[in-house]
Amino acid sequence: MALPTAFFIANLSVGDFNAIVFYPTWEDCMTTKYIFFTGGVVSSVGKGVTAAAIGRLLKERGFNVTAQKLDPYINVDPGTMSPYQHGEVYVLDDGAETDLDLGHYERFIDSSLSKVCNFTTGQVYAEVIAKERRGDYLGGTIQVIPHITNEIKRRITLVSKATGAEIVLVEVGGTVGDIESLPFLEALRQMRSDIGRENTLYIHVTWLPHIGATDELKTKPTQHSVAELRSIGISPDMIVARSDHPVGDELCDKIALFCDVEKQAVVPVVTTPILYEVPLVLEKAGVGDYLLKRVGLTPRRHPDWSSWEALIEKVRCPKPSVKVALVGKYVELHDAYMSVREALKHAGLELNVEVDIQWVHSAELEKGRCWEVVKQSDGILVPGGFGSRGTEGKLQAARYARENKVPYLGLCLGMQLMVVDFTRSIYKNEEANSTEFDRGTPHPVIDLMPDQRGLVDMGGTMRLGLYPCELQPGTIAADAYGQPVVQERHRHRFELNNTYRDILQQNGMRFSGISPDGRLVEIAELVDHPFMLGTQFHPEFLSRPNRPHPLFVAFLRAVKQKAGLVE
Ligand code: GLN
Repeated sequence: MALPTAFFIANLSVGDFNAIVFYPTWEDCMTTKYIFFTGGVVSSVGKGVTAAAIGRLLKERGFNVTAQKLDPYINVDPGTMSPYQHGEVYVLDDGAETDLDLGHYERFIDSSLSKVCNFTTGQVYAEVIAKERRGDYLGGTIQVIPHITNEIKRRITLVSKATGAEIVLVEVGGTVGDIESLPFLEALRQMRSDIGRENTLYIHVTWLPHIGATDELKTKPTQHSVAELRSIGISPDMIVARSDHPVGDELCDKIALFCDVEKQAVVPVVTTPILYEVPLVLEKAGVGDYLLKRVGLTPRRHPDWSSWEALIEKVRCPKPSVKVALVGKYVELHDAYMSVREALKHAGLELNVEVDIQWVHSAELEKGRCWEVVKQSDGILVPGGFGSRGTEGKLQAARYARENKVPYLGLCLGMQLMVVDFTRSIYKNEEANSTEFDRGTPHPVIDLMPDQRGLVDMGGTMRLGLYPCELQPGTIAADAYGQPVVQERHRHRFELNNTYRDILQQNGMRFSGISPDGRLVEIAELVDHPFMLGTQFHPEFLSRPNRPHPLFVAFLRAVKQKAGLVE
């Protein structure tokens, strides 16, 4: 078998030592299987969920699977993008701020991903331009092919090295036809000739529009999208045809014929309100075994879907419902709080209760509107956030929860505002605040750590990723977790100001989670309250469908009680 010379020579010629070091050996290439996902017709058809679900199918067959998202936008990462544009920023163990699809991957595959699992055009160009400035290209002309495409391939092949995955699922953001995604698609095309047909698969996820007048589904846009993909040099091996309506056999035959894929490889996936059902739908369609066969692998074990089936059974089973007011700044776009919503769902399944989320815009509360929604809720959740818009509304929601003994869960900013409200009540001074919102506040109860101040002036830095937290015995948090030390994911700049610890404690706040060196308050809770707890970290990122997060479960238990539902 010929060595993939083009693959290596193209990279050696740039004379970049790092690139050589990080390039896989021939053996790596031979042992890692890549499944590439592209989107057709329209965006938002659930490409990420499809990839995540397929990851689960392969994991169930005994393979070490991971997933990577390639984002064609030019931003370096989604960390600074508006949630309106991009939805939630999902944070990984290692502190990477990533696309929300990584949340789907982690929840479905149930493995922790790494920062190599998400990159953008911005990162690719930044790297190539930095090398060019260093003179690494020895005066050569830097071009999209091969320099940009090589950097894309380097980053794709890095994943199996960094994670040890045997199968890497690679999803390209956007839709085929977008200008931005062309270099990515070209890199994927090259990978098939670099590492072989038996190691690469292309799955195209498309949409079948429904024509109301004639009540039929149309395959033409899918055909066009596949034609577009072919013109770039990629022939899909499988087509996942998403639709809001049942897809008949004859339609699948037609797609197979016109798009030149095997009949078995046309997989209709009808929209389901139950996201976690998708792996079962794909399993039924034989996708797992088919994909393995196509890359020359045999399943190492029989998939065991019993716990997923039980989960879906639980979702279907009618349950009493509770109302949780989610008070945020981006509530019009539910994707901005994707992990929080999922974490509430997971905890609801555990406690056999339907969580009816009431989306409340914090700016409305400031104007005295929407309070009836908050008042009719059985619990209040204030999620994370940045910037001052709407913070007073969130703080008023925290105050309402404190004064009326309504269960409250504060996540990051939600915790900070709970502490600010409590401080205002102690000092009877409405000017107590976080220095994020008022630099001159007389009571900076949330502030930068002294050793952080210089750093922020130099361009900003956040506490990102996993940090240990010691739980204080006899607290709500310690009871919920049932273990002495936990690791949780962070994404914030500000911290509870230690000079206020004593006064807060004397007035009935306890610090149930503290960093092992004692310097940082990680969890605060009120003593004289059924459940008012805030975390400096983001527990929502560690909740899994079959493993709900203990703090969300504890919160919902209190919510259930408030709603008059006994367990
Ligand atoms: N804006 C706050 C901080 O930087 C909270 C951040 C968040 O909620 N993730 O500390």
